[in-house]
Amino acid sequence: MALDAGFILKEYEFEFKFMFIGVGMTKRGKVVVGVLGVAVLLAGALYGALQVPAVQDALFTRAVEARAGHVRTELLEDDALHIVFCGTGSPLPDAERGQACIGVFAGGRFFLIDAGGGAAEKIAALQMPIGALSGVLLTHFHSDHIAGLPNIVLQSWAQGRHEPLKVYGPAGVKQVTDGFSAAYALDSVYRTAHHGAEIMPPSGARYAPEPVPLLNDFSEAVVLEEDGLKITAFRVGHAPVDPAYGYRIDYKDRSVVFSGDTVKHPNVVRHGKDADVMVHEALAPHMVETLARGIEPRLPDTAQILRDTLTYHTSPVEAAEAANEAGAGLLVYSHVVPPLPNALARSIFLRGVSEVRPANVKIGRDGLYLKLPVNSSDIQESQW
Ligand SMILES: [Zn+2]
Ligand SMILES: [Zn+2]
Repeated sequence: MALDAGFILKEYEFEFKFMFIGVGMTKRGKVVVGVLGVAVLLAGALYGALQVPAVQDALFTRAVEARAGHVRTELLEDDALHIVFCGTGSPLPDAERGQACIGVFAGGRFFLIDAGGGAAEKIAALQMPIGALSGVLLTHFHSDHIAGLPNIVLQSWAQGRHEPLKVYGPAGVKQVTDGFSAAYALDSVYRTAHHGAEIMPPSGARYAPEPVPLLNDFSEAVVLEEDGLKITAFRVGHAPVDPAYGYRIDYKDRSVVFSGDTVKHPNVVRHGKDADVMVHEALAPHMVETLARGIEPRLPDTAQILRDTLTYHTSPVEAAEAANEAGAGLLVYSHVVPPLPNALARSIFLRGVSEVRPANVKIGRDGLYLKLPVNSSDIQESQW
């Protein structure tokens, strides 16, 4: 329904006059007050309408139809290497970032690099088709890389995955998946009992751990190679976590390399050679040192734990150097430490980076989507 603003203004002019008794308003002033009055009346009417159950139900139904159950099927269909950042944070609590989680889609397959806390929730919010999950590639077994696994299993099972979930990673991956299986054994029995074996067969609750052995610092292992998709694991340096892996994913003529958690490491440079995208972890030592100093009087042990993290991560400047040495196209920081809640924090985090790498650097945020179409050098970027 079109509203005739002039008519409404005239209608309510009397009331506005009444409201401003004795005030000799100009014509312009009356119009301004009139418009404000109309806005207040409309807001009041809208508020009133929103209290009517039938209106509430209609709006809720519309929202459900528009969103619930919809997933981004183009990630499985478009011939491209798709990268969706579902968690760009770290173990430090961060309201804006989930823990380590990145989705890679290529050739109809869907792999997750790590599954930290909150991964399943972020995946749902980003409408990623979790029922089509092909497998999880774990870089190592720190909690911020594995804590989300049980919910990933549950959500993908409930959305159609009936085969055991393949989980690749360093030796030790079976210990992790056996532990989660034991902890969730009762839960999975309840689910099958409640919803039936046809919808939630016991097989969907299971893990299929796939240890990827790497004999020494210089060895690599091809985790999977089929239909133009190749996933390669390599070792990085995250001592005392040993081994810790990075992964390179090639799809047709496009590529992305993931550093995993590591100090600046020659293997990331070697396996990141000419990659279209390098996703590198980064911890800003100058910010972590300030944080440690700040909490030291109240939490001295926690301050020491923070300082200890300086020994096994890469600084933003070092990651930029690694990207340059590899000749990588776009560098995206993920597993960002500390949290960066505003532009000031991001500016401090990036201090010194532009001197090393003036362009093609990005701080990853949850919901960042990169599409790398095949037979092209394009990197299409959007924030979901
Ligand atoms: Zn770690
Ligand atoms: Zn980590």
